[in-house]
Amino acid sequence: MSTSSLSRAARIIMVGCPGAGKGTQTARLLKQFPAVKALSSGDILRDNVARGTDIGKQASTYMSSGSLVPDIVMSKLILSSIPSSPTTSYILDGFPRTRPQAEALSDAGVDVNFVVNLDVPHSVILERIANRMVHPGSGRVYNLTYSPPKVEGLDDVTGEKLVRRVDDDPETFKIRLEKYEEKTKPLIDFYREKGVLWTVQGRTSDEIFPKLLDEVLRRFG
Ligand code: AMP
Repeated sequence: MSTSSLSRAARIIMVGCPGAGKGTQTARLLKQFPAVKALSSGDILRDNVARGTDIGKQASTYMSSGSLVPDIVMSKLILSSIPSSPTTSYILDGFPRTRPQAEALSDAGVDVNFVVNLDVPHSVILERIANRMVHPGSGRVYNLTYSPPKVEGLDDVTGEKLVRRVDDDPETFKIRLEKYEEKTKPLIDFYREKGVLWTVQGRTSDEIFPKLLDEVLRRFG
């Protein structure tokens, strides 16, 4: 069994509350399996906001207040970016986030075959968010405790200033967690009913990643 390629196409969705580490786990899987593609709904939205597109303008109000962008806008945006080849493996990070988005994906003929539900205690998440800094240009994420930049406050690659995401403000973040509970639970139920849900528990990405890797290899290796 190869540990750097998959023998059948994996169409993976990462689910988990904001700050659970969806982006980190996705990045680690990509490093392990270079042929896998990844799409992050948050990154695609932030790119649209930065470029001032129509979708970006519509989305930014929702994003800065910690609310979810409407399902119709999201589904249109992401569905047009999903690889169409049946042999391509990919990871969707942050989409779908609601049951209607999952239904839109299924109606479009996208056959998701592995849904990873990252179950991280809220206390760990709140601490992690308080320490999160990002580089706005690239989306690179740092954690002041676990993965600090080489020079305080500056991006390792460009040397540009790091910032706190507007929606990581503690009050906004609390709203995001509540929205998560409300909107994402039905999504988890949807995939549980389809038999593709896999839940993994852990406090750190180092604890979760080996379990995730084993499971990916077991299913697709
Ligand atoms: P993220 O980087 O995944 O935490 O996403 C940042 C923000 O983008 C979220 O708080 C939402 O406002 C918006 N967003 C990202 N993905 C979605 C989605 N699938 N549905 C609705 N809003 C989304």
